[in-house]
Amino acid sequence: MKATRLTVVSNRLAIIVDKNEDGQWQIRPGSGGLVTALGPVLRDRGGQWIGWLGSNFQEMLDEASLQELLEQGSRETGYSLTPVHLTGEEIEKYYFGFSNEILWPLFHDLASRCNFDPSYWRYYQQVNDKFARVVAENTLEEEDYVWIHDYQLILVAACLEEMGVRRRTGFFLHIPFPPLDGFIRLPWRFQILEALLRYDLVGFQTVRDRRNFMDCVRMLIPDSRVVGHGHVARCLTSKREVLVGTFPISIDYKQFAEFAGTREVQDEAWIIHANLPERQLILGVDRLDYTKGIPLRLMAFANALERYPHLRRKASLVQVVVPSREGVPEYETLKSEIEQLVGKINGRFTEVGWTPIHYIYRSLNRIELMAYYRTCEVALITPLKDGMNLVAKEFCACSIENNGVLILSEFAGAAAQLHHGALMVNPYDIEGVADAIHQACTMEEGERHMRMEKLRRSIQRYDIFRWVNAFLHTAVHQHLDEFPQAEFFVPKPMPAEI
Ligand code: UDP
Repeated sequence: MKATRLTVVSNRLAIIVDKNEDGQWQIRPGSGGLVTALGPVLRDRGGQWIGWLGSNFQEMLDEASLQELLEQGSRETGYSLTPVHLTGEEIEKYYFGFSNEILWPLFHDLASRCNFDPSYWRYYQQVNDKFARVVAENTLEEEDYVWIHDYQLILVAACLEEMGVRRRTGFFLHIPFPPLDGFIRLPWRFQILEALLRYDLVGFQTVRDRRNFMDCVRMLIPDSRVVGHGHVARCLTSKREVLVGTFPISIDYKQFAEFAGTREVQDEAWIIHANLPERQLILGVDRLDYTKGIPLRLMAFANALERYPHLRRKASLVQVVVPSREGVPEYETLKSEIEQLVGKINGRFTEVGWTPIHYIYRSLNRIELMAYYRTCEVALITPLKDGMNLVAKEFCACSIENNGVLILSEFAGAAAQLHHGALMVNPYDIEGVADAIHQACTMEEGERHMRMEKLRRSIQRYDIFRWVNAFLHTAVHQHLDEFPQAEFFVPKPMPAEI
């Protein structure tokens, strides 16, 4: 039977609820890779998004006001928003604890940053069970395809199964999957692996991630075997058969490319350009996170200025850092480290009329971000490890004159697709990155065009809709077009309290 509705489940709902300058509660679209990727898809198909609101709003807002805000959010986003409410303790131990202090660093090969606090596991199970209950109450077996996202919610299919609820489920891991010798450090390695094998389909960003997963299954799950070599393989265990595929996430290429050429973006780009005339601008855009390699990148830029003095007065780095996980001590320390480095490098190199690093610590609106993508000639994207990195793809899509140069870390998921046109770097190699900065800033126009055309063609061919289609086709043999087109939108009533 065909699925007629797509239900997306992720840790965070696709919106942000906060107070405006007048102290009034407001609802705003969320940012981040997943919202950017799935928003257009759900809007066109009138789907549903289930997730946590991002704070303990039940204690701050009465139910009627919260419902009103969600209905407004549903009207604005174009799809139904169903919240999962978490207590303060759950947020602490499931989100900040198990998800962000264990799975996030472990899956990014940074096991030394893990805090394997045993109490976190119980909350991770409890919250995954809560999500599963909301899924069970708001979906139907015949109607919905339930697509669960990311490392915070690995146990949802297992929880549904334990409740005796049958749903068609798929799971997509947005972050990398670690190699066996990293994964086996996890005290709950068997439970996590077995939970992943309860989905009908498990998707990874790259062939390397999927291979790591398969290696772990082969080693840790007795009597398991893998059949097939294509982009989707079958994983057979004594209990079940699971499809395991590679689906590199992408962007709405057309929307980015078209929006980059609009008057609003051009005007904003002109303002940036007018304020920084005759500069070659190098752009870094990252959420504040230790996986993004920002301090090493700043050191590489300083190294380039040291070793290639002709870049001074000519090249400036615009480093945008989007606040993230505020209040977490590790992130506060990282923020201070970045600020100190920016101060030190600017102190060392600034001359009258030229500042080497322009540091922006805030979220940019869409027009500003596009304007930076258009104005900056080089994007410097050097994560130590990244599931995909959508900024790399967005920068290329917006380089509508084909004159941008992409410097990309070998350890970003995007490298698998973009290595032919980008300048590839090892982010730990400070001199190597500095050399790439120099190469990008001095690259002939012909080479820039040739490389960028290649990059843009590849991103255009494999855009976000192809990603969704590839996943859904593998999951339920359905093309996105076979989900009914949204004609009008009727927000659903709030589910009963969980
Ligand atoms: N982004 C944004 N506002 C900003 C900077 C970035 O909305 O000020 C978006 C950007 O367009 C991209 C996403 O945040 O879609 C970042 O995704 P990426 O995969 O690069 O990294 P993540 O933050 O998901 O690790």
